[in-house]
Parts: sequence; C-alpha cells; structure tokens
Amino acid sequence: MAPTESDCLFCGIIAGRIPADVVGESEQTLAFRDLNPQAPTHVLIVPRQHYATAAQAGAADAGLLDEIARVAGEVATAEGIADTGYRLVFNTGPAAGQTVLHVHGHLLGGRGLEWPPG
Ligand code: 5GP
Ligand code: ZN
Repeated sequence: MAPTESDCLFCGIIAGRIPADVVGESEQTLAFRDLNPQAPTHVLIVPRQHYATAAQAGAADAGLLDEIARVAGEVATAEGIADTGYRLVFNTGPAAGQTVLHVHGHLLGGRGLEWPPG
C-alpha cells in the first residue's frame, strides 16, 4: 500500500492540504480534533503512513498502535482527562462504523461514557 493516498481525507490533513485543528503530533502520528465531536474531548490520532484499518496497521507495524496509544495519553493529559478517564477506540470495518479508511484512534472523554457502547 502506498504511504500516502491522494484520495484519502486523512492523508490530505497530514499533508496540510486539508485544514485541521492539530492538538498533538509525533514523528509517526498526528492528532487533531474530530469535525463532529461526540464528547467534550474528541481527538483522532492517525499514523502519518496510510493503512486502511487497525488490523492492517498492526500486521504491518505493531509498534505503530503502541505509538497511537502513547500520543493519546499525552493528549488526554493536555486535555485534563487523563485522571478522570477516557476511551481510545478503533472502529474497524463498516459494521463497526468505520467511515474513513485511514486507521485512526478516537480519543473520547470529558463526559461519562456508557459501556457497552451502542
Ligand atoms: P470513523 O467513523 O471512520 O471511525 O471516524 C471518522 C471520523 O472522522 C468521524 O468521527 C468524523 O466526524 C471525522 N471526520 C470526517 N471528516 C472529517 C474532517 O474533514 N476533519 C476532521 N477533523 N474530522 C473528520
Ligand atoms: Zn490515508
């Protein structure tokens, strides 16, 4: 799979072609606010390299998912939700609600989060 896909929304954000509210980054990842937030804090953490799903990213580079979790923790601390609690979730595949086929961790917090989710 190509490292950057010209028709991919999140590759466009990473390349700076599409604006986003960036709240964190690392060499391998970028973190930006979700356009349609589902919680007071709703940040997407994406690898700079394009993989469609968490399964594909994990198979190709297991450390990448660790890095997403690490950056999510940093953003949670900066957002003041690290102690109260937050959720990090990867919707994987259409039945689970994945609409953007560039793997992204949703960091959600700042309100109570029911479990199991809908
Ligand atoms: P998924 O449904 O694939 O798990 O999550 C995709 C997320 O991307 C959704 O929560 C949606 O609100 C968000 N999103 C869609 N388009 C844009 C955009 O152009 N900019 C940003 N920042 N988020 C977007
Ligand atoms: Zn992409």
